[in-house]
This record gives sequence, structure tokens and C-alpha cells, in this order.
Amino acid sequence: MAIQSFHPPRRTLMGPGPSDVYPRISEALSRPTIGHLDPAFIQMMDEVKELLQYSFKTSNALTLPISAPGSAGMEACFANLVEPGDKVIVCINGVFGMRMKENIERAGGEAIVVEDSWGRAVDSAKVEQALKTHSDAVILAFVHAETSTGAKSDAEKLCRLAQEHGCLTIVDTVTSLAGSELRVDDWGIDAVYSGTQKCLSCVPGISPVSFSEKAIAKIANRESKVQSWFLDMNLIMGYWGQGTKRAYHHTAPVNTLYALHEALVILQEEGIEQAWERHQLHHKALAKGLEAMGLELVVPEGERLSQLNVVQIPEGIDDAAVRSELLQKYNLEIGAGLGNLAGKVWRIGLMGCSANQTNVLNCLSALKSVLKLEKDGAAAALTFYHTKS
Ligand SMILES: *Cc1c(COP(=O)(O)O)cnc(C)c1O
Repeated sequence: MAIQSFHPPRRTLMGPGPSDVYPRISEALSRPTIGHLDPAFIQMMDEVKELLQYSFKTSNALTLPISAPGSAGMEACFANLVEPGDKVIVCINGVFGMRMKENIERAGGEAIVVEDSWGRAVDSAKVEQALKTHSDAVILAFVHAETSTGAKSDAEKLCRLAQEHGCLTIVDTVTSLAGSELRVDDWGIDAVYSGTQKCLSCVPGISPVSFSEKAIAKIANRESKVQSWFLDMNLIMGYWGQGTKRAYHHTAPVNTLYALHEALVILQEEGIEQAWERHQLHHKALAKGLEAMGLELVVPEGERLSQLNVVQIPEGIDDAAVRSELLQKYNLEIGAGLGNLAGKVWRIGLMGCSANQTNVLNCLSALKSVLKLEKDGAAAALTFYHTKS
């Protein structure tokens, strides 16, 4: 028998990403492929740039989608900004901070680690101390929304501290973009990267990035070439640069960029602030429901992400069996714990179009049934939706 076409099952995606994709985006993906230097495509690229500037709240000219997933955006920031010998302060409070450290060292930099416990925000007092102790550090790097733990850090405050100490900032906003308040220009972020498959509800595979003038100056004045040819921003600018003639660098993922364009149009229609508020609303409803059923959230209130809810697995419950039953019986995907938290927590995502009332209620009902709980979390969430308290 010849291998047949692949038809994936229909799931509800409530894990750490990818999130459910808007039908309008799937439709955009199927539009005719055209050349990546076609004038029509180039016009669309300019719109993508403008929409990304809107989403990041930046006027940075160097704002564009890297043709690869969030990890490539991370690598692009570190490979371009970290020069051999640079001292970089990196905050680690989960898996993605650890990856930042790895990137710093691979770029030849020296990582100064500020550690916080998993499930907590980055402690700004520790960061301030590190900036004072290491006055020769040139960059501060941290994760805004730690998807491995569900903790949100105060990006505004951390960036202000970095500026006071003459450091550039690299901020991971893969999970925060469109899900949490994020203001690249107001907060003075110098390099930022994100992903398409989290709160933008687009297909995976693209990483929006943005660099400030200060960051561009550091990249332009490097003594050594950027080690990665593909991610060298000096070269990528030749293709994505505005006004100038576009030069071939690599073949852009044409249809995936149609998808990103559509995702950003949808976001603009809703309004970025409204998207932040929607994530917050459904997070609160989900938290009410989980707590009503006796399930505990790992992150203290005030440091919680709306779009990623990390739940303690109750004593005596088989982690994998529960997730498997949710998938088989309810077509519902929730995330497993990562790194230090593997086997100890579940990660329930409310990202992009997955952040809606139906998903919240269905997830709570499914958990009640699979865990054989007595209290009705969906009823508690519904009360919250009606009364907002
Ligand atoms: C998902 C994620 C990444 C990596 O993105 P990929 O698209 O999986 O490469 C990086 N940082 C954070 C905080 C993430 O949540």
C-alpha cells in the first residue's frame, strides 16, 4: 500500500504552543505561492513590518520576521549582539533563561547568571546588584514570559535598570507578544524576539524580531563577523530593508508569511490592548475554576501569566495518563512540565484564539471528569464570567 495523504486529528490546543490557528489563517496559507521578490510580495512584506511594529509597540525600522521558529529569533539576537569577550547578565528562572545562557556562551560571551526559583518572576533587586557588581557588563538578557513556569517578569523595570547601568537589553517575548502588555519603545527594549505559534495563533515557524538604533549600532560596529551567516542581521537587512532594492538572501517562506500577515491583521482588528485584556479575562475565569476544584496554581498571584497557567499535579495522580485521557477522550491538549517541573505540573495555555470562554469551560469540565473531582470548576468560571468577581 502506498502511503496516503496525512490528515491530522482535530484538537483543541491548550498547551504551551502551538495554539489553535484561526481558520482565516489556514485559508491564507493556501493562497497561490508567488516569487519572494515579486512586487506584490514585497508590498505585503512592508505591511508585515508595519503590523509587527504595531504589535510590538515600536517604531524600530529593523523590525521583521526571521524565517525560522522562536529559537532562531533568540539565536539571532545573541549571535548579532554578543561579541567574543562581552559580559552579559542573564536571568534564569526557567528553561528559556537557560537557553539564553547557552547562546551567550556559544557566541563567545561571558554569562553572569542571576538565578531565581522556577515559578517566580525575575527579582529586580538581584539584577540591580549584578549590574552594580559587574559594571563592565554590556547586555542584560531575560525572558518576559517564562513558558516553562508560567511566571511573568517586570520587563519595564528590568529595562530601566539596564539603561541606568549603560546596558543594552535582549528580551524574550515569544509567549508575551499579543498576550501580555508589551511596549518595546516605552520600555526601551533594544532587542526583542517572538514566535508566531503562541499568542498570535499563527502556524509555527516564524520569529518576529525588532532591534533599536542602539542595538543596530552595536551590530554595525562589531569587530568580528557574526558567526552565523543565515542570521547575520547585516545581510538580512539587505532583503528586508525599506526603500532600498531587495537583494536575494534566502527564499522567504512565502505562504507562511501570508499566514503571519493574516494573523497580524486579525490582531489589529481586535486591537492589541483588547487582546491583552481578553487573555487576562479568560485566565481569571480559568484560575477561579481550577481553584474551585481544589487545584493549585504554582505561580503567586501578581506574577502569573494569563496565557500560561501552571497547575500543581495533585498527589497520587499519574501525569501522563491524565494528559493521554484528555487527548483521547476530549481531543484536548494540555502541556506537560518542562525541565525541573517535569512530572510535577501541567501547563494550560490560553494563547491567541485558544483564549476563549468555550475552551475554559470545556477544559475545566474535562479535568473534573478525568480527575474525578467533586466540585464544579466550570460553574465557578461561569459565575466569574457573569459577575466578573
Ligand atoms: C516557545 C518558546 C521559545 C522557542 O520558540 P520555538 O518556536 O519553539 O523555537 C522561546 N522562548 C519562549 C519563552 C518560548 O515560550
